[in-house]
Amino acid sequence: MKSLEGVWRRYDPEIAPIPLVFDSPHSGEIYPADFDHQPARDVVRQAEDAHIGTLWAHAAAVGATLVEALFPRSYIDPNRSLADIDPALIADAWDEPVILTRKTSQGIGLVWRIVSGGVPLYARKLSAAEIRARIESYYVPYHAELAKVLDARHRAIGAVWHVDCHSMPAVGDVNADDPGRERCDFVIGDRDGTTCEQPFTRFVAESIAAMGYSVAINDPYKGVEIVRQYGRPHERRHSVQIEIKRTLYMNERTLAPHAGFAKLEADLRTLTASLADYVNGRLSTGLAT
Ligand SMILES: [Zn+2]
Repeated sequence: MKSLEGVWRRYDPEIAPIPLVFDSPHSGEIYPADFDHQPARDVVRQAEDAHIGTLWAHAAAVGATLVEALFPRSYIDPNRSLADIDPALIADAWDEPVILTRKTSQGIGLVWRIVSGGVPLYARKLSAAEIRARIESYYVPYHAELAKVLDARHRAIGAVWHVDCHSMPAVGDVNADDPGRERCDFVIGDRDGTTCEQPFTRFVAESIAAMGYSVAINDPYKGVEIVRQYGRPHERRHSVQIEIKRTLYMNERTLAPHAGFAKLEADLRTLTASLADYVNGRLSTGLAT
């Protein structure tokens, strides 16, 4: 295992590498010293996709690579565009491009303004220099590591399959796109078919359904910046997002794993082995579509 302290950790293949890469951008729990959030830590931690890196760590056993962020996504969110900046959060001028999105208006853009339940994250505005430092010290190195791994695998074989791993609240809160609705066990996102070859998206969904879970595709989560940035099917770079319902493996409030954790982890091992078979099968057929 390699790591950059407080920023990322990388699980390298334990057998011959295959072009299958996982990343967990939201399971980080090392809170930087200058993160002076106002609500209590347990409230801020509701934003974490807790334990997701651990749940996928087995991927190295099939020859895949996993990159995990170590910093909390509420500090700076790797799954947002650098232009997804809320000017209302900044005390002074921000001279980089700004493209406001629905996430910005929800207060959960690149640097979050609110946390769970709509509670303001800070008692003050942040300086542009502080935000720049978070980008340079956390966001950029995380993306650089993920891009490096994806490029290396793609260079070796001419194709790469990437799974962006997340977890989601069981029910959408008032600020979500689906308030009050109970979610499926898994949601697969490929931004409406634009970030991944469709056979892979279908294969992921069907493999999960075959284990008895409910699965939705692109509803309510289509995938955000990470699959948008790295999924380029015409270059044989395929990215899907997988969201897992948190109540399958933990108490959503305390983040403590419950009895379901071991079963989910075992099922994810089965899924990862199937994904490795898919990738190896595609390689053995000369990547013909
Ligand atoms: Zn997430």
